[in-house]
Amino acid sequence: MNTKQSEILFEKAKTLMPGGVNSPVRAFKSVGGTPIFFQKGKGSKVTDVDDNEYIDFCNSWGPLILGHCNPEVENAIIETVKNGTTFGAPTSLENELAELIISNHKFIEKIRFVSSGTEAVMSALRLARGVTGRSKIIKFEGCYHGHSDSLLVKAGSGLITFGASTSAGVPEAFANETIVLPLNDEEKLTQTLQQLPKDIAAVIIEPIPANNGLLLQSKKFLTHLREMCTQYGILLIFDEVISGFRVGFEGAAGLYEIQPDIITFGKIIGGGMPVGAYAASKEIMSNVSPDGPVYQAGTLSGNPVAMAAGIAQLKQCLTPYFYNILQQKTDVLVDGINKHIENKGYDCHLFNIGSIFWIAFSKEKHINSADKIDSNKMTLFSKLHKYLLENGIYIGPSGYEVGFVSSAHSMEDINRTIEVFSKGLDVAFA
Ligand SMILES: *Cc1c(COP(=O)(O)O)cnc(C)c1O
Repeated sequence: MNTKQSEILFEKAKTLMPGGVNSPVRAFKSVGGTPIFFQKGKGSKVTDVDDNEYIDFCNSWGPLILGHCNPEVENAIIETVKNGTTFGAPTSLENELAELIISNHKFIEKIRFVSSGTEAVMSALRLARGVTGRSKIIKFEGCYHGHSDSLLVKAGSGLITFGASTSAGVPEAFANETIVLPLNDEEKLTQTLQQLPKDIAAVIIEPIPANNGLLLQSKKFLTHLREMCTQYGILLIFDEVISGFRVGFEGAAGLYEIQPDIITFGKIIGGGMPVGAYAASKEIMSNVSPDGPVYQAGTLSGNPVAMAAGIAQLKQCLTPYFYNILQQKTDVLVDGINKHIENKGYDCHLFNIGSIFWIAFSKEKHINSADKIDSNKMTLFSKLHKYLLENGIYIGPSGYEVGFVSSAHSMEDINRTIEVFSKGLDVAFA
C-alpha cells in the first residue's frame, strides 16, 4: 500500500502542530504508523491523498450518519453560504433546527446551540450548578465528556473517590469537585449519595458509554440512577453527544424511556459542521442567560451554515424506518463477523447497539465497566487495524473507539467488510 503523500504531509504537520494533529487520537499513536490524510469522501467511501479508497466506519467519529457529501446536506450548505457565513445575530435557521428537534423529542422543551460537544457539556454543568446552588458533580469511569477542566478526571484513591486529573493544567481544586464512580454499580452510587446528600449538583453519564469501548449499561442501573437523582435533588445529565440522533431520534433517553434533566448534543446534530447543544425543560432552561443568571455565550453559536446542515441531516433521520434499516445493516455486519469468530474460537467479540459497534478482545459477553477491558490485548487491535487499512476499510485508530454504520453503507459494503474483517482477525490471531 502506498502512503507516501500521507507520510510527507505528516512530517510537515509535525513541524506546525503538536503531534502533527488538531485532536490527539488522529496521530495514530495507539496503532502505530502514519495517520492517513484524506482528500475526499462520497457516501460510504473516503479517498486518501495517495488515492487509496476505503469504506469508512469512522464517519468523523459519528457525525456523518448519512455518510459523506449527502446530496441534501451538501446542497443546504452551498445554498446557505451564498447568503453569508455568519451574522452574530439571529437567523430563522436557528428557529427551524430548534423546532425540528424539540417537536420530535419529548424529553426536552428548550435548547441552546453551541459549537462543540465539549462546550455543550461544560455549559450543562454550569447550568446544573446554577440551578442547584451546589458545586460537586459525579461522573463515571469510562465515560468521556469532552476536555473541560472538571471532566478530565479519573477515580482517585480514598473512601469517596474525589477525582484526580488526567491532564496537566487542571487545578487540583477543580478535580476535587468531581467524584468518579464505576459504571453499572448501584451500591457505590447509593453509598456516595448517602455520604454527600446535599453537595452534588449533577450526575453526568453517557447513557450509552461509547468512548472507551462500548460499555452498555443495564436499564435497571439507569433507572436506579434516575430515582436516586430525584431523591437527592440532583440534576441528571445525559451526555448524548454520541447517542443523540444515533440510536433513534430521541437517543438513549427515548430508547430506555428515561427522562433526564438536561441532555447534551453534538456530532450528528450539525450534519458534519461544528454544532453542539444542551436542552432541558422550559423551567431549567429559564436559568440560562439572558433569561436567567447562568451566563453562556458564543460568537459563532447557531451559525447559519451549520444550522442548515443540521436541518438537512436531521430531516432525513426522521424518515420512516431510518433507524430500523441502520440497525439491521449493523446487525448483519456484527453477526457475520461474530460467526467467523465463533467458528475459529477467537477470544474476541463484536457488540452493537443500533448502528454503533465495537470489537472487544475478550471472551466476555458482558463488558459494562471500564475495568473489564484488557489493555494488553490492544496489540491484537493494532494488527487488525493495519490489515483493514491495507485492504480498504477505515476504522478509528484505537481499540477503545467504536465504529459507526451510516445510511450510505450498501449491503455490498457490509458483505465486503465481513470478509475483510474476518481475514484481518485471522492475521491478528495467527
Ligand atoms: C465527542 C464527545 C464529546 C465532546 O465533543 P467535541 O465536539 O469533541 O467537543 C463529549 N461527550 C461525548 C459523549 C462525546 O462522544
